[in-house]
Amino acid sequence: MKAYSGRSPLFTADRPRSWRDDAACIGLGRLFLPDGIETIPSTPKGLRLVADAKRVCAGCPVREACLTDAIAAEGYTDHHGRAGVRGGLTPQERTTKARRDKRGDAEPPTLFDLYLARTEALDDGHVRWTVKTTTVSHHGHSYTPRQLAWACATNRRPEGALLVACDMPNCVAVEHLTDSVMRRKPRARA
Ligand code: SF4
Ligand SMILES: [Zn+2]
Repeated sequence: MKAYSGRSPLFTADRPRSWRDDAACIGLGRLFLPDGIETIPSTPKGLRLVADAKRVCAGCPVREACLTDAIAAEGYTDHHGRAGVRGGLTPQERTTKARRDKRGDAEPPTLFDLYLARTEALDDGHVRWTVKTTTVSHHGHSYTPRQLAWACATNRRPEGALLVACDMPNCVAVEHLTDSVMRRKPRARA
């Protein structure tokens, strides 16, 4: 995974030890707060930052405490004004979870949970699909690996074909996928 500089947004000096000391994102501030994003960005670079941040969160030993802390601090009314990935969720996803928790609804696995469980991020920036099955079901919808990668990292349906824009066949890195909308515009550099 690409290296990022900066301190975790959760880290502050001169305080008692807490769950924050075990945060997997210490030193990865730029990854977790890319340009103060409030919702999932639609540029390839932004999508990959969110995907990389979520992948770090998936292996973080204090994810539950982090997410609980974020939701307690943010409430459940509106995601506007919040930034960054916390506890594996974007601001918008945290709002959705907070509202679901408030209603007492059971928590279903997210699309990103399914994506993380079936992929491996490679050091050169590509992402490999690691299981034999090539369709994934979620809430009655069926996804191919590319559709799953796209759906868990964007807020819109793809237009036209989803194509791989890198040199690794079948790569499912979100920033290496394009739909016709993105192919009509110059790509942001990672
Ligand atoms: S869950 Fe994610 S944001 Fe929270 S402490 Fe762990 S790595 Fe950082
Ligand atoms: Zn790739």
